[in-house]
Amino acid sequence: MKKDKFETKAIRNQIERSQYGEHSTPMYLTSSFIFDDAEDMRASFAEEKHRNIYSRFSNPNTSEFINKVAQMEGAEDGVAFATGMGAIFATFATFLNAGDHVLSVRAVFGSTHTLFTKYFPKWNISSTYFNATEIDNLAPLIQPTTKCIYVESPTNPGLDIVDLERLGQFAKAHQLLFIVDNCFATPYLQQPIAFGADLVIHSATKLIDGQGRVLGGITVGKKELIRELYLFARNTGASLSPFNAWVLSKSLETLSLRVDRHCENALFIAKKVEAHPRINWVKYPFLSTHPQYELAKKQMKAGGNIIAFEVEGGLEAGQRFINAIRLCSLSSNLGDSRTIITHPATTTHSKLDESDQLAVGITNGMIRLSVGLEHPTDIWADIENALKS
Ligand SMILES: *Cc1c(COP(=O)(O)O)cnc(C)c1O
Repeated sequence: MKKDKFETKAIRNQIERSQYGEHSTPMYLTSSFIFDDAEDMRASFAEEKHRNIYSRFSNPNTSEFINKVAQMEGAEDGVAFATGMGAIFATFATFLNAGDHVLSVRAVFGSTHTLFTKYFPKWNISSTYFNATEIDNLAPLIQPTTKCIYVESPTNPGLDIVDLERLGQFAKAHQLLFIVDNCFATPYLQQPIAFGADLVIHSATKLIDGQGRVLGGITVGKKELIRELYLFARNTGASLSPFNAWVLSKSLETLSLRVDRHCENALFIAKKVEAHPRINWVKYPFLSTHPQYELAKKQMKAGGNIIAFEVEGGLEAGQRFINAIRLCSLSSNLGDSRTIITHPATTTHSKLDESDQLAVGITNGMIRLSVGLEHPTDIWADIENALKS
């Protein structure tokens, strides 16, 4: 039987059963694997055999997780990491050399920004930012040493949409490696490889886990690229633990259901927030007032679970709003079953100075909401009540 639908593959793509005939994949909590004899050992290390040797290299649970995400993304293969940042760092470290240049969207995840600005200069790797919505004239930003183009879409926390198809064509025309951090959209809502991405990265900590339990990361793409990344990963050690891989692979079984509901709830809240008199603006990719609504609809199945809005009255009003929240959690995570409220200017993006914050759409009164799976009317009641404060 051909298992071609997303939901079916998410559930039926399983590693081989053991001799016990278990229905659900067991956890393989083992650091190493045994060999039959000296020849088996030699051939295994020579990679003449495809088998598990040591869990830093591979493990049945991580293989199942990788196979699922790769299938969902339309990728040939992947490598799993202990965290999303582990995946991002290893991907850059594998493909960049000293002296290379990275062209990146300005609004990147905070720690990715820190990589570009604090650590890459140590290795003489430079980077140039461009705005998510201004991709018409990128050619002048390319240098002879430019190696890759890096984007997140929707961006965090500004929720701008990057036109993946046009950037894919641009990257191809200039022979640049096109890398997409697809964390906000998940493989269910958006598949960047279909638009020309060479490598797709996820922090599995967010919607893939979906319940705020474990950290994990993954990079998927073409076999030749993944082979190089795999060798870097197995020698440098940021491997995903088998336990976390098991949790994350189980989570993927329900990804479509959870993300559908996250998106429904988020759209419900976005419309309520938009209609509220104490809100200056709200941004959500699938609101018709989003400046890139048409593009969002073209490249995403639904709008995701993150909403950004600004409370009237600046920093003080934003902080009063947060202090009046009762049900939602004040936390820096996102993509959890619990609705989470963050104040980017003083937390996740506090490392950026004010002009850099404004350049990525962060104002003092801006609130980022990661809409969870509670009943939407309860989420809204909490927000509406806090807006009265
Ligand atoms: C959280 C996040 C990361 C980093 O993932 P960790 O698992 O926390 O290391 C990278 N990119 C985006 C867009 C994220 O939201």
